[in-house]
Amino acid sequence: MKILVCVKQVPDTNEVKIDPVKGTLIRDGVPSILNPDDANALEAALAIKDENPGTTVAVLTMGPPQATVVLRECMAMGADEGYLLSDRAFGGADTCATSTTIAAGIKKVGKVDIIFAGRQAIDGDTAQVGPQVAQRLGLPVVTYVQDVKFDKDKIVVQRQMEDGYEVIEVETPCLLTAVKELNEPRYMSIYGIVDAYKKDITVWNHEDVDLDPKDCGLNASPTQVFRSFTPPPKGKGEILKGSVNEMAATLISRFEEKHLL
Ligand SMILES: Cc1cc2nc3c(=O)[nH]c(=O)nc-3n(C[C@H](O)[C@H](O)[C@H](O)COP(=O)(O)OP(=O)(O)OC[C@H]3O[C@@H](n4cnc5c(N)ncnc54)[C@H](O)[C@@H]3O)c2cc1C
Repeated sequence: MKILVCVKQVPDTNEVKIDPVKGTLIRDGVPSILNPDDANALEAALAIKDENPGTTVAVLTMGPPQATVVLRECMAMGADEGYLLSDRAFGGADTCATSTTIAAGIKKVGKVDIIFAGRQAIDGDTAQVGPQVAQRLGLPVVTYVQDVKFDKDKIVVQRQMEDGYEVIEVETPCLLTAVKELNEPRYMSIYGIVDAYKKDITVWNHEDVDLDPKDCGLNASPTQVFRSFTPPPKGKGEILKGSVNEMAATLISRFEEKHLL
């Protein structure tokens, strides 16, 4: 069996701060990390590999050359193969073009039984890439997966809902997107780190995955970010005065003014 995990290198958004004077983002020194949900996706793949001898786990990313660092990190955790889709033609992609490229890369990898992705990347935050990749490959998709049981060609998953979960049975091949409640990602091992640097990473450009430059990157993106800005800081808080009843009445009227009630 072969499992493929889509992983993305993202800036650690916990480390991004806002300059209180200029109101702009301070990006200097912000480290790049493996997207947290993708670590859960990889852990799920590795746990299935642990229980099913003969299983291989591949990790695939689309990004600049430095994104190989996250592939090595995944290999140090236990992934067997790494694929980097890297080409200027892939740049400026929205989720539509990103998923076209990732799907083309997966086709090139060959027969895959389970594809995992994270629910969401902490930088783009759209949660669209996983389902779009599944659609392009014509595969069933289950999102928000918080538990996976694998049994031969059948997978039973729990899909997280706001007030509970659904139990869904899905056949392979399929795509599952992981949430953080799925598991606790393992650490890289010392042996794994050494071993990760002995493995090859396959790098593909648009020709390698049979994509015309007009069908990927900015050229194939129906949306374009035309402005981005830092949200204004919250205004000063206000302490209400008066008796408990007066304060409650003021609070309710404020909520009504803002159409919150
Ligand atoms: C230079 C640049 C220009 C951009 N321009 C635009 C634009 O004009 N319009 C616009 O809408 N967006 C733009 N984007 C953002 C871009 O659309 C997203 O970064 C990308 O499509 C992924 O979406 P997301 O981060 O919301 O991922 P999500 O959909 O939240 O990610 C879900 C999961 O999909 C997988 N995944 C996501 N991205 C990758 C990847 N690259 N490789 C492997 N797996 C992945 C991961 O498993 C991830 O957990 C731009 C980004 C860059 C870097």
